[in-house]
Amino acid sequence: MTQKILVLPGDGIGPEITAQASRVLAACQARGLDVEVEEGLLGGSAYDVHGEPLPAETLEKAKAARGILLGAVGGPRWDKIEDLAKRPEKGLLGVRKQLGLFGNLRPAMTYPQLAEASSLKPELVAGLDIMIVRELTGGIYFGQPRGIEERDGQRVGFNTYVYSESEIERIGRVAFEMAQKRNKTLCSVDKANVLEVTILWREVMERLAPEYPDVELSHMYVDNAAMQLVRAPKQFDVVVTGNMFGDILSDAAAMLTGSIGMLPSASLNESGQGMYEPCHGSAPDIAGQNVANPLATILSVAMMLRYSLDEPALAERIEAAVGKVLDDGLRTADIASDGTRTVSTSEMGDAVLAAFEAL
Ligand code: NAD
Repeated sequence: MTQKILVLPGDGIGPEITAQASRVLAACQARGLDVEVEEGLLGGSAYDVHGEPLPAETLEKAKAARGILLGAVGGPRWDKIEDLAKRPEKGLLGVRKQLGLFGNLRPAMTYPQLAEASSLKPELVAGLDIMIVRELTGGIYFGQPRGIEERDGQRVGFNTYVYSESEIERIGRVAFEMAQKRNKTLCSVDKANVLEVTILWREVMERLAPEYPDVELSHMYVDNAAMQLVRAPKQFDVVVTGNMFGDILSDAAAMLTGSIGMLPSASLNESGQGMYEPCHGSAPDIAGQNVANPLATILSVAMMLRYSLDEPALAERIEAAVGKVLDDGLRTADIASDGTRTVSTSEMGDAVLAAFEAL
């Protein structure tokens, strides 16, 4: 059956980088991938046309799509919008919420060709390949009650860190299944020495473990995990954690790889429907200049093929094409170094396509 793919270029560099990723998607179609691709507006560009960041038409298309490819949203042009509900990022949050995209996959991979770009010593990061599985729709970012109010003559801010067993179980299953497909080790990160909600988190992970006897489950407190991530990151394979800890640890892990322009991500729901996007933002400082790195977005297409479209061979082909281009010394400005050739966004797209066809 023909599956639908929705491309949401978004704002800033979004249109430039998704244009290159769409070419790669088209090359997959030419090799038999049975998908129908359409485009939609999200974020600031949607606000400019429809007065809202997530128009009904986009939401409808998103619900019907098996995979959504997003560039990025936001930029200074829309920072002045007073109604927070109309800000570009609300469009992104709206899609996540409406589609129930609770499982955020954040790979942190160092290409050996780019190990020098990391802030850590190359030997600590060469070959790094971590998958952080972050719960995305619950935890302290969404818990009620929340607010700032007057108590005993002063203002008090408060949030609620809450997870139900079912929320923990479903993200746990995503992580165990991911570990089964990789190196069969799973580290669950919590703060069970202090927070009851993560005592429950740990209990649920332990309860799931016997169902995945081939996976070795370990636990780590989040403060230790942060230290270990910068001390010896290669000890990790799959990491599972809640929304806030995952937010912080996945960005730290991203920087170990040396470039934010290289990192894709996925957000999935229970039926495997997913939104795929680069980890970086809309980079307004370089928008429209044809210099942005499109590789994270191209690699997001690979993740879509693997996790929503069940086409692992095409995913591997894209990843291998990216590896080949890096081997050949081609770099966009953000990852350039001595001895490499700096290319534009579209030239990088050309090179990946050529490598994809030649493999
Ligand atoms: P950013 O990731 O957009 O940019 C940070 C720095 O990295 C900039 O110097 C930028 O030029 C560079 N950069 C980012 N992506 C790059 C790429 N592909 N190639 C080369 N260089 C790249 O983060 P920011 O500056 O904090 O945010 C800019 C806007 O993006 C804000 O409006 C923010 O809200 C939005 N944002 C959106 C998302 C998203 O859509 N998922 C995520 C983060 C930030």
